[in-house]
Amino acid sequence: MPTYEYRCLDCKRPFEVFITYADYGKVPVVCPRCKSEHVHRRIGRVRIARSEDSRLEELATDFGDPAALEGLEEDPRALGRMMRKMSQELGEEMPPEFDEVVDRLEKGQSPEEIEAALPELSEEGGLADDSGDF
Ligand SMILES: [Zn+2]
Repeated sequence: MPTYEYRCLDCKRPFEVFITYADYGKVPVVCPRCKSEHVHRRIGRVRIARSEDSRLEELATDFGDPAALEGLEEDPRALGRMMRKMSQELGEEMPPEFDEVVDRLEKGQSPEEIEAALPELSEEGGLADDSGDF
């Protein structure tokens, strides 16, 4: 059963729901926290290319702890933990790839290894829809 990620537009919290393909679009999705139906399906992509480093620093600065970034390049696990914590506390829209990246970071993989393992992360333009059977 696929997992769909949503974000509540009322209480701003992200959440996941499990819906069968048959039910998707038919059953109402409500926020598990405040029961609002004012929810938004989360789409988007996260990239961990070097161009994103500045954004990470911005996030850390917003987070009030720029020093938290020090040493993280040598410590993927700490980076993964920080990314997870930031995504949770900021409630930002994070696509499924984000969790994959964080999982790999927490297993000790370097950003370079993760980019090599997930080449789609560094593609521009998002979803490549060349399957033709849409
Ligand atoms: Zn809510």
